[in-house]
Amino acid sequence: MNLPKITLGLVATEPGSSRRNKTGSWRTLRPVVDEKKCKRCWLCVIYCPDSAMNKGEKSARPDYDYCKGCGICAAECPAKAITMEQEVR
Ligand code: SF4
Ligand code: SF4
Repeated sequence: MNLPKITLGLVATEPGSSRRNKTGSWRTLRPVVDEKKCKRCWLCVIYCPDSAMNKGEKSARPDYDYCKGCGICAAECPAKAITMEQEVR
């Protein structure tokens, strides 16, 4: 009997494939950091569920390739240094 070949689903065949999936394209709002207000406490870096907020020299820096615009960083920032602005494409 000739059975059709079934391919595996939901299997990561190589490491690092999530880097190619630029989830920033899902975003409708984007976090914007005010350098003057940022205290560099890095709470936003810790809270970002997508590891899309990074430590910058002067302030936190969103990685817009992967930031989904959830707004958690803005909600958690004690200095109110992050505002969520409408994404323009
Ligand atoms: S939480 Fe706010 S003050 Fe702290 S690093 Fe992030 S943007 Fe700066
Ligand atoms: S908006 Fe959400 S995904 Fe984007 S940097 Fe802030 S916490 Fe991370």
